[in-house]
Amino acid sequence: MSSRTSLYDVTYQLRAHKRDRFIEFIKSLLLTPFILSTKPKEQQDRNTPRYLEILGCIEELVEDHINCVQMGKPDSARLNRLVPSLGRFFTKLPLQQAYEYINENRSISTRRFVPPSFNDIRHLLNHAQILEIAKQLKLITFDGDYTLYADGQDFAKDSALVGLIISLLQHGIKVAIVTAAGYPGDAVRYEQRLSGLLDGFRNFKKNKDIFSNFYVLGGECNYLFQYSPEDEHLHYIPEEEYQPEFLKEWSTDEDRIQEMLNVAENHLKKRLKEMGYEQKVSIIRKMRAVGVSPKPGFKLSREQLDELSLAVQAVLDQHNFNKIPGSPTTKRRRIGKSISIPFSNTIPYCAFNGGSDVWVDIGNKLIGVKVLQELLKTEGHETLHVGDQFLSTGNDIATRNCCCTIWITNPEETQDVLIQLTNMLAEI
Ligand SMILES: [Mg+2]
Repeated sequence: MSSRTSLYDVTYQLRAHKRDRFIEFIKSLLLTPFILSTKPKEQQDRNTPRYLEILGCIEELVEDHINCVQMGKPDSARLNRLVPSLGRFFTKLPLQQAYEYINENRSISTRRFVPPSFNDIRHLLNHAQILEIAKQLKLITFDGDYTLYADGQDFAKDSALVGLIISLLQHGIKVAIVTAAGYPGDAVRYEQRLSGLLDGFRNFKKNKDIFSNFYVLGGECNYLFQYSPEDEHLHYIPEEEYQPEFLKEWSTDEDRIQEMLNVAENHLKKRLKEMGYEQKVSIIRKMRAVGVSPKPGFKLSREQLDELSLAVQAVLDQHNFNKIPGSPTTKRRRIGKSISIPFSNTIPYCAFNGGSDVWVDIGNKLIGVKVLQELLKTEGHETLHVGDQFLSTGNDIATRNCCCTIWITNPEETQDVLIQLTNMLAEI
């Protein structure tokens, strides 16, 4: 191996937490026609047919991946060899059809100086996913911060998302907010965060029964609430009423949960001391989480937040690994970098960069969405999760292993996505 290749590999690995390999893969394929077919002075659009041909081939690779997974042979899928870190696809992705819409909005084919970008591909995948899932959607789950409202803010009363979420419920779709925010059993606190949306429910004068299909799952997967149209409030559902067996294996083991949080807290304190920031941040300990939050007037950079979340992930992985009898073995199973899912002797967790803080939560959104799927009898191809944290230091990426996903970057994009979706639902 040449030194150049080694250096490339090292550089790539060190930045892996800032990339999405599937999007990078598509981007790299579209770069060839951009380089070869774009003629600066030519008026005729020569790129569209070439981009469409490539997207058609990717559609086939996705279908092949779905078929191989269904046959129990995921390693046979060609796409798995080309993009090794790939999750699952729960539906086909009509990329060619989606390109028409995205190209109209982003002028991809006619661009002469800016090749198809990460955001172009992200929007393309989002639209393709909406096109395919609209006809069978039964459950939609939303992240909270950055997805429905600004970080740490409450759901605004005048947000256009209020009407769009009501429209989803009117179409018979179940809606849940799956958020890291953890307030154990505290319906009032969640009602406060969601005040604008719940006011919208209360002001809606038609069929109020639809609102019983609205849920909130806090602490990633730990605290479930359901909206009651009768008294117009959220109600806590005790764990024993809905928790599936796979969750009970670890969720009642309070000693080991606290031991895990102690390990995380101690390591975060150690790293903060090494960085010289222990006086400038607060360590917040909750029942099922521990977090680092900057004190007023201080801000941690994205690099510092990523460093803390990756550092604590490494320590917790080792801690979980040591708890598996007979380790070192091959029993550990990982999803992305930040997420672990439970084996009988490990505690699942999620360590992530929350945008301005870092949290280690017990449990994760993969478990959260699975709990809802089991409760509401829906499958992966009927479930859609909308979130902003799909890099490996984020907490939405885990859901890719149990349902279809949409990657947005702010509440305005969520609004765009829901307008596309509700327009399609209206036509079905
Ligand atoms: Mg978020």
